[in-house]
Amino acid sequence: MSLAKARRRFSEEFRVIPGKPAKLAKRDPEESLGLNDAPEVDAITAENVRRIADLQQLLYADARFSLLIVLQGIDASGKDGTTRHLLTGVNPQGVRVTSFKAPTADELGHDYLWRIHKVCPGRGEIGLFNRSHYEDVLVVRVHELVPKKVWSERYRQINQFERHLVENNTVVLKFFLHISKDEQRTRLQERIDNPKKNWKMQPKDLDERKLWDDYMRAYEDALTECSTAAAPWHIIPADRKWFRDLAISQIVADTLDGMDLRYPKPTFDPSKFRVV
Ligand code: AMP
Ligand code: MG
Repeated sequence: MSLAKARRRFSEEFRVIPGKPAKLAKRDPEESLGLNDAPEVDAITAENVRRIADLQQLLYADARFSLLIVLQGIDASGKDGTTRHLLTGVNPQGVRVTSFKAPTADELGHDYLWRIHKVCPGRGEIGLFNRSHYEDVLVVRVHELVPKKVWSERYRQINQFERHLVENNTVVLKFFLHISKDEQRTRLQERIDNPKKNWKMQPKDLDERKLWDDYMRAYEDALTECSTAAAPWHIIPADRKWFRDLAISQIVADTLDGMDLRYPKPTFDPSKFRVV
């Protein structure tokens, strides 16, 4: 596929069609639509990142809409790297990044969406979630932190919550960073071997890796149940970082482009004023 054609197709290529199974096992984490890691690809990614920064200014000035980007993926799937790359150049004033950890006692004292809704982007803002409310049907399910009866109701609750956000002017884009088990081994090993990466590693990550199949089952269900017309999931092949960054930056930039953003009408008639 040519680069130009691939760019137009990322969104439909990787979107989970609402009502259809995600079929994670059938998707190739190494997919690159025939593209190679080449300077012209890097140039397009850089252009997308610049477009995102420019359009964010307009989103902010317009102040009618918000954009929420949700990143999910297994350990070492590239959530941090994607965040850094995608938002390079964006005015910090207009973005809010939240990394969700295990809930605090205070958070556990509320329903699981409480901490999420509190940090959703305001009008004019881009919000990025590094992990999200989906942890409540992923890690929580795999480790049986609540009974099945409780987590299985959450798909519907999440769909309703996201629909509520969308109906109130938040555009919701969700990306699952799909890496292979082999690629995870390489990246976790690098976190052990490279002293500058040791801080990213916890011994418990190796125990989590043993639960790979359970996580994939949980992801399959979350991606299937919660890809809606209002808030679709995208399964991004993420073994190749350059392709991951190209695809996500393209979808985000195109989404902002399609939002019909405009500068608000001035509250005064500029032709009648002059600074003296
Ligand atoms: P990291 O992304 O490496 O900083 O790790 C964050 C950790 O918090 C991961 O192990 C997540 O599984 C965990 N976490 C995030 N949200 C939840 C949640 N709702 N319940 C339990 N653990 C969570
Ligand atoms: Mg971690």
